[in-house]
Amino acid sequence: MEKTLVILKPCTLQRGLVGEITNRFERKGLRLAGMKMVQLTDEILNEHYAHLSAKPFFQRVKDSMMACPVIVCCFEGVDAVETVRALTGVTNGRKAAPGTIRGDYSMSFQENIVHASDSHEAAETELKRFFNPQEIFDYEQATFGFLYANDEY
Ligand code: ADP
Repeated sequence: MEKTLVILKPCTLQRGLVGEITNRFERKGLRLAGMKMVQLTDEILNEHYAHLSAKPFFQRVKDSMMACPVIVCCFEGVDAVETVRALTGVTNGRKAAPGTIRGDYSMSFQENIVHASDSHEAAETELKRFFNPQEIFDYEQATFGFLYANDEY
């Protein structure tokens, strides 16, 4: 079963949307395998957003991610990475399709509610970056047999 990283960004905490956004993933059927509040640092963001380091907005994005603590989440499901990205929508909230999280809650390129891993490899790297192994829980999802056909996993 695939696991992926979601970060509820500072804008989500400040706007009181933590419950609502977490609910989007829960009601889809993803299993919450890990969740904690952390204060991000420049050091960890230099790693996490290394692909943006040459962009003029790099420091601004990092500052936004350090504005207050974030909630890091590990969600699990069949094709979890792709499914979570689809629920999230495109980066720019103004362009994101209605019905997606960014499409429904964001007016901004930067203040776009969540981070979501964009590939299986990225998810593995990013989960290791933000979680210790003992913070990821492999409990049984009681509804599992009603979420999938038995040839889907
Ligand atoms: P995504 O979060 O959709 O995977 P990226 O990895 O390209 O997108 O960018 C990481 C984060 O940096 C975005 O979620 C957004 O907060 C910010 N960002 C990216 N591009 C821009 C931009 N052109 N202007 C402002 N912020 C941006």
